Amino acid sequence: MATKPKIAFFDFTSCEGCQLTVVDLLQTHLGLLDLVEIVQFREAMSEKGEDYQIAFIEGSCTRKSDEARLQKIRAQAAVVVALGACAHLGGVNALKNYWPIEKAQRYVYGEHGQDAYESYPARPISAVIPVDAVIPGCPIDRHEFLRIVQLLLQGRAPHLPDYPLCVECKFKENACLNYHGIPCLGPITRAGCDAICPSYGDGCEGCRGWAPEANFAYMREILRGHGLSDADIDARFTMFNHYQFQQMGEPAPVTTPLGPDRTAPLPTSTFAAPKED
Ligand code: SF4
Ligand code: SF4
Ligand code: SF4
Repeated sequence: MATKPKIAFFDFTSCEGCQLTVVDLLQTHLGLLDLVEIVQFREAMSEKGEDYQIAFIEGSCTRKSDEARLQKIRAQAAVVVALGACAHLGGVNALKNYWPIEKAQRYVYGEHGQDAYESYPARPISAVIPVDAVIPGCPIDRHEFLRIVQLLLQGRAPHLPDYPLCVECKFKENACLNYHGIPCLGPITRAGCDAICPSYGDGCEGCRGWAPEANFAYMREILRGHGLSDADIDARFTMFNHYQFQQMGEPAPVTTPLGPDRTAPLPTSTFAAPKED
């Protein structure tokens, strides 16, 4: 019998919801274990095998010490996959990049927060190591995960949909939420989740990143039509994609400053952070 490819899962700064989605998937698709051997998966097992060919990395890089760990995984794995919006885009973790890091640390961990936990601005893992494939979403879509694993096992390169979410939404014959007064970022968001949020009546929030050639100006006009202020619209644009807009610099379609000069005051937390080992 041929040796099964060995795969491993790793978590960085994240809520671990994408790994949980994989655990959940394994309950109904146990056959996956006939095709691969999982050697490391903290969410599901205590063994920590260091011999693997495919690494799934969840979470953003948010501290200097993450870099060496990411590079070690990259050196071992033939294929590295960014698992979920935190790893793919920086995701919600990158919202802290709005403020100087010391300010964010003080806000979350209290007056001595800076000494308690190592931290720096959040980035997707592709900012540190080359990434071979991404599985977008917050959390990931389990069917897309299966499809991408299948392609990787066949030695083929996975491709993400290059059209906006509205296409999938129309195939499902959903009534358009924007037409019915509910803000939805579908026109500028990359498809691939089968328009799950609009299908349940919630506007898309862009967790899969932007569709190619997204028309932000037109999207802003639609959102203004809902009575949203420019600040509200910027907040929606940057919820998962703050890092992307930071990288765009001047052409970024946001009206508030995207950078450490944001002046909004933050209260200091009363939480007393324990000292990190
Ligand atoms: S992408 Fe979302 S669900 Fe996945 S780890 Fe990050 S915050 Fe959690
Ligand atoms: S509900 Fe959202 S995703 Fe669906 S068609 Fe309207 S804008 Fe597009
Ligand atoms: S509909 Fe939008 S927010 Fe919801 S999962 Fe899909 S891309 Fe993410």
